[in-house]
Amino acid sequence: ERTEFITYFHQVIDRFEMHIPEHIELVRELPKGKFNVWIDKDKMTQVLDNIISNAIKYSPEGGKIQLKVENKRHYLQVSIRDEGLGIAYDKLEKIFERFYRADRARSRKLGGTGLGLAISKELVEAHHGRIWARSKEGRGTTIIFTLPLMNQKRGYNR
Ligand code: ATP
Ligand code: MG
Repeated sequence: ERTEFITYFHQVIDRFEMHIPEHIELVRELPKGKFNVWIDKDKMTQVLDNIISNAIKYSPEGGKIQLKVENKRHYLQVSIRDEGLGIAYDKLEKIFERFYRADRARSRKLGGTGLGLAISKELVEAHHGRIWARSKEGRGTTIIFTLPLMNQKRGYNR
């Protein structure tokens, strides 16, 4: 359905803030304007839940999680950045594979199946977006995805 993304994203973050550990801070960097996207809200919420849950789960020492949206003209770019343990460069693409879990010992302790990001990738691509990761080991991880913007004004700019 047609959805104004910034209002919707604020609501998703508000809901998270009610039940996250106290030592974790969510920092929003969302633009002021209105940005319409065509999304399945339940599915998009699943994408955001998976990524934000990871950021919380893999930030053992707490710290900040930055949630950012940038207007790239034809699409929005959403990034979720944590200050956790990070992911090795050679594993950055693998984390989107089914059942892949970096660092077995850590993963076993923290629980999970290794499906979260694989599902997120499928759902982002179903929305005609792309998803990827950046990370510096020991410094943190950023998960980034894009979402096409709907034509704001028909006939304008053509
Ligand atoms: P599930 O999401 O199914 O409960 P999971 O969190 O292990 O399990 P994914 O969300 O798919 O699975 O993530 C895959 C792997 O990528 C994780 O096991 C972890 O090793 C790594 N990973 C994902 N997000 C982060 C992050 N923010 N920081 C560090 N490592 C991460
Ligand atoms: Mg996960």
